[in-house]
Amino acid sequence: MKTRINGKNGDELSILGFGCMRLPTKNGGIDEPRAISMIHEAIEKGVNYFDTAYIYQNGKSELLLGKALAGGYRERVKIATKLPPFLVSKLESAKKIMATELIRLQTDHIDYYLLHMLTDKPMFDRLAKLGVMEWLEELKAAGTVKNIGFSFHGSKADFETIVKAYPWDFCQIQYNYMDENNQATTSGLQLAASLNIPVVVMEPLRGGKLVTHLPEQVEKAFAGYDANRSPAEWALRWVWNHPEVNVVLSGMSDEAQVAENIRIAGEVEPNSLSSEELGVFEQVKSEIREKTKIPCTACGYCMPCPAGVDIPGCFSCYNDKYLMADKSARFRYMQTLGAMSVKPANASQCKSCGKCESHCPQKIEIRKELKTVSHEMEGVFYKPIVAIARKIMRVK
Ligand code: SF4
Ligand code: SF4
Repeated sequence: MKTRINGKNGDELSILGFGCMRLPTKNGGIDEPRAISMIHEAIEKGVNYFDTAYIYQNGKSELLLGKALAGGYRERVKIATKLPPFLVSKLESAKKIMATELIRLQTDHIDYYLLHMLTDKPMFDRLAKLGVMEWLEELKAAGTVKNIGFSFHGSKADFETIVKAYPWDFCQIQYNYMDENNQATTSGLQLAASLNIPVVVMEPLRGGKLVTHLPEQVEKAFAGYDANRSPAEWALRWVWNHPEVNVVLSGMSDEAQVAENIRIAGEVEPNSLSSEELGVFEQVKSEIREKTKIPCTACGYCMPCPAGVDIPGCFSCYNDKYLMADKSARFRYMQTLGAMSVKPANASQCKSCGKCESHCPQKIEIRKELKTVSHEMEGVFYKPIVAIARKIMRVK
């Protein structure tokens, strides 16, 4: 197992992190013997970073991880878990959640503690106003929390604001070869690294879509270079090729995934993909571009929109819906462009001022395309669903 050093605190972290959000299930619950045996196997092979969350698998993920790490394993690994902002209406709620997490995980400290799923600065500000950051700093001084970070699912601009808003010990972003220009983006990754903020990557396979929903030509392009390398291996190698990445999380659901990921994580080095291999990714991206409904490259020249529309974000979700038969694209559209942001950035916010269009090097008729996106991605239930989601997530 290769490791990379956390430049902030010197931790030697396995480049493969075990994401405990898709543990194997049986009869509606986690298949405990299997999950525990997969976790032990990973530890024996050198994985030392385990990522869970208060809400994963209805709270059972933390419980399972606590069980799996009892009996001497806890001391060999770092635990990352998270505070769900939407369950925190006052500081007392955060304290209760933390107390529960420590009990579930059978530990007296959390190595890496994250504000879960921040999407914009007001979300962070709300928690800060409740005193959450001061409280976490007290826990850090007492050794109950070792590192304070956040996981992120918003726009590039929001990532840039949040990452600079606090002296974070680390952050967690979605990143893979399809998301170079989406969410935090490559420049966000580089920004975090330039601020000496270690980066944990989640969704390297985009929730499995880079394995199971690929266009045929993309699979052919990969297989044409090396028929023995799976699309998952290609995708993981691409992320690990970035030296700015510390840990890549994989939500492993079976023994074969554990074995494959551990094998690859024992081979890869940063900046090690050959020019031929990088060429395969170029071919793959060009195949993907060809099948893309709106040819937006996410360059951002059209931004900012005075009405707050995240133009490339809207186009990205819409393109995914068709390109990858991505059934979750509408959910992601709602999650990242409206439901959890103080300022909604979805397509129907467009006021048709036309300011953006002259800046687009792709000559996209942005106003017309946003109307299509709004029609197809929002529909009649969008507004009521978003209103309910915002209430649940305490977005004002
Ligand atoms: S046309 Fe719409 S998307 Fe473009 S800048 Fe104006 S409001 Fe924003
Ligand atoms: S300028 Fe055009 S290509 Fe660039 S992000 Fe905006 S819509 Fe996309």
